[in-house]
Amino acid sequence: MGPEGLGTIVNRYEHTQALAKTAVGLMAERSVAPTPENYELFFSYVSGQNPALSKVMGDLIANRKPFTSPVLEDLRNRFFPRPKLDDEMVSLGNNVSETLNSMLTKLERAGRDTEDYGRKLSAVSGELGSEPSAGGLRKIVEGLRTATSAMEARTHALESELQKSSHEVGELRRKLEDVRKESLTDPLTGIANRKAFDLDLRKAIVQAREHNEALSLLICDIDRFKQFNDTFGHQTGDQVLRLVANCLSESVKGRDTAARYGGEEFAVIVRGAPLRAASLLADQIRQVVQAKKLVKKSTGDVLGTITISIGAAQLLAGEDETSLIHRADAGLYAAKAAGRNCVRSVSSSHTPDVAA
Ligand code: GH3
Ligand code: MG
Ligand code: MG
Repeated sequence: MGPEGLGTIVNRYEHTQALAKTAVGLMAERSVAPTPENYELFFSYVSGQNPALSKVMGDLIANRKPFTSPVLEDLRNRFFPRPKLDDEMVSLGNNVSETLNSMLTKLERAGRDTEDYGRKLSAVSGELGSEPSAGGLRKIVEGLRTATSAMEARTHALESELQKSSHEVGELRRKLEDVRKESLTDPLTGIANRKAFDLDLRKAIVQAREHNEALSLLICDIDRFKQFNDTFGHQTGDQVLRLVANCLSESVKGRDTAARYGGEEFAVIVRGAPLRAASLLADQIRQVVQAKKLVKKSTGDVLGTITISIGAAQLLAGEDETSLIHRADAGLYAAKAAGRNCVRSVSSSHTPDVAA
């Protein structure tokens, strides 16, 4: 047992239990619904953890103000705000469920229509069984014709309504896909953003383990970029970011992911590649960037060239993404220390290799 004695722990447990009882008692007394969210408010109030909350709730209690749903909601929003889903996602989600609900209603109605039709047919077959006269037969056939064409009309209407609904669902699905893509793309360069990179790296690590494949990571950083911005302006700097992103996309093929990792840093997930192959790719990328002649679009002025430094690391057995990123970063740091415009790799631990 650590520095905290058993007695202290028991006391604390009893204290918490007493607070919980007081909170529940108070909720019952003020007719507050016993939901976890309301309990969170009242427990926090009786424990005095949040002085601002205690003040507001204390006033409400002292003045015997009722804890109506809007009052409780307001308290929760003010003191325990929850992250809100992106508005667009919520409204698209609502549209999808509305469309699906209306499709279900139409299908239920169609089911009832078919039952009606079936009942009519049974009734007719009953009448036929009783050997009707010629006139009676005509009436029966007439009735059948009417019922059948009514059913046909309804089936047609349903078909076109369902077609419309399924078109709407397709449209919504495309919009959702657009929103999803947008949330994973860096708006400046058009390549994967940090969120996409994080998701992809986690997935790549799981897959590498599953298939017993190598996996490497490159972290690239533009050299002396602050100076470039200071000299040529931020907008020209942005053009350079696009150019570097294009170089990465060109050099990275198939299953590999190039992403904008941060401001002027990029990352490449190289699937199936051991450190040696990843370092070679890194050096190719470095040369591609260095070979580009920078020309200011608006004036045609030649701005010279830009270089990048790259750190490389290969996933080790049992390593997580944080450690892999950390090691690739250590490689990048070593590349900067070695004079920039070069690649350094870290094979194990956090000590960079002498040469890439
Ligand atoms: P080093 O070679 O050591 O990497 O030097 P550096 O100047 O590139 O490094 P530093 O981290 O000091 O500066 C990074 C600069 O990148 C600072 C900032 O002006 C620039 N930067 C970051 N994000 C953007 C961006 O979105 N657009 C532009 N134009 N510049 C950016
Ligand atoms: Mg940087
Ligand atoms: Mg830099």
